[in-house]
Formats: sequence, C-alpha cells, structure tokens
Amino acid sequence: MPVAALLTLMAVGQFDPYVRSRVTAGDPSTQALYWTVPLVTWNLNREGNLVTPAETEFQAIRASFQSWQDIFTSCGNLSLQEGPLVDSREVGYLRGKTNHNLVLFRTQNCSELAQPTDPCWKAETCANQYDCWDDDDGTLAITLTTYDKRSGIIYDSDISFNASRYFFTAVDGPPCTSQGQGNCVANDVQNTATHEIGHFVGLDHTRVSGSTMFPSAPQGEVSKRTIDPGSRDFVCDVYPKGKPSQSDFHPAMDTLAGGPVGDKGCSATGATATSMGPALLAWAWLRRRRRAAEGRS
Ligand SMILES: [Zn+2]
Repeated sequence: MPVAALLTLMAVGQFDPYVRSRVTAGDPSTQALYWTVPLVTWNLNREGNLVTPAETEFQAIRASFQSWQDIFTSCGNLSLQEGPLVDSREVGYLRGKTNHNLVLFRTQNCSELAQPTDPCWKAETCANQYDCWDDDDGTLAITLTTYDKRSGIIYDSDISFNASRYFFTAVDGPPCTSQGQGNCVANDVQNTATHEIGHFVGLDHTRVSGSTMFPSAPQGEVSKRTIDPGSRDFVCDVYPKGKPSQSDFHPAMDTLAGGPVGDKGCSATGATATSMGPALLAWAWLRRRRRAAEGRS
C-alpha cells in the first residue's frame, strides 16, 4: 500500500475513545468485527510460558479476561468463559478440526526453525507447523481473528505471546531496570493480555493516551490492566445488555452463529492479526492484517 494511503487510513479515528476492528483494517466503509454468540469459550494451552510455573501466567490471563467480563456483566451481552486446558498449539480457524479460542506462548522463533525458502513463510503456516513465533521481533503479542468477510462476524480468535523474544512477568512491580533482574515487571502478562482480549472482542487500536488499546507498551507497564472508559463504552455500545450485538451498518443478512461450516452464502473468510509492539516502534505495528491460509475461498 502506498505510504500516503496508509497514513490516511491510520488517521481515521485514531484518537476516538474506541475504534472497532474492520473487515479491511482502518476502513470504516467495511463491516466491523464482532461476536454474535452469547457465550465465547477460551482455552489456555497447558504448557504456559515454560519460564515460571504455568499457573503464574494463567492467573494473570484469567485476571485479564475477568476485567473484561466484569464490564460485560454490568452492561454487555457476552460471556467469556474459560474452558479446560488444552494441548492444541494451532492458531487460526482450522477447517474440519476442533477449534479453540486459544491463548498460548510461543517460545521459539520461526526464523531459527524454518529455512528462508520454506514454503510455510508464504503460506503463513510456519507458526503452526513448527510451533514458533512467525511475526515481527518487535511485537509482544498478536491476536489472530478469523471472521466472515461479508458480515464481520467473528468465528475464532487466538492470542499468541512472543516469548521467543520477550521476558514475560506476572508480578505487580516495580518496573525492571536491568535485564535479568528478578521479581520486577519486564513485560507484564496481564497488561498484555488485557490489550489482546480487546482485539479478541473486536477492538482496534486507538491513540488516546491511557487507553488499554493504545498500540504500544513500554517495559514495566501495568496500566493497561485497568480497562479505560472508552474501551468500556465499546462493550456497552456494541454488546448492549439484553439486545443483539451491534453491527454498525448493513447488518448481516444471515446468522452464522454455527460457524463457517457449510455454505451459508458468504464468499470468503478473512483474518486479521493485530499486534502490540514496544513503544519506540509503535507506529510500525499499528495494524496488521493477513488472510487466513486456512480460510475459505
Ligand atoms: Zn494491539
């Protein structure tokens, strides 16, 4: 995409209290992404981060989901419920397989496991094939969402942490001041997960200072653990209590709550990946999008 066009897209709504994710990133003429089912189950991969006892980061991630659930309980219509720990490490919507809304840590980098000529790079399948982080080094975590391209209805959303590059911690403070320091906040699991769950439920980045959905996080930050008023309003507006979830225009013509199995007339499934990078590189990681290799065509 030409730089000018990209800058224009980035400028649209980037200081709004909240910004909805779109079928085409940053293009408000395309459908917003949202869940239409009343209950979304998410699953932790049982391995955790392999650095600390898995239960440490699991509790941090549960606290992040709970922060969102508290808002959904007060003014929303969606329940985010933890399912059992799972062995699966495959992200994306997997045709003909059991699909989990997965949260996992990638501890190895794909560049060390897959040859540069490996077809998995082009097909964007390295992460699943080699169980590795295949995205930019400057990205802390990524949420891969698979949705119906016409309606914006989300089918599947998976959160991956980049533990191949970043040291994740689950303590409250103080910020670490040097590498390898113990009992301090390096990259906070709960801070990161709270942001990524925002993507999971259909939020894009906003550059409003102090927002949970601000696109970057400096080391030591824990402030995104507390969900800001703009992101709270998103829940109340888009998932209103006692009412259907809101598409903001040209509502979906059919319901696809059962998922994209069988032909319900939708022509394609897209996937969007939204990432969160370190502060200095934040502008580069505002928004990423890619088609799911496993998507329908
Ligand atoms: Zn993000």
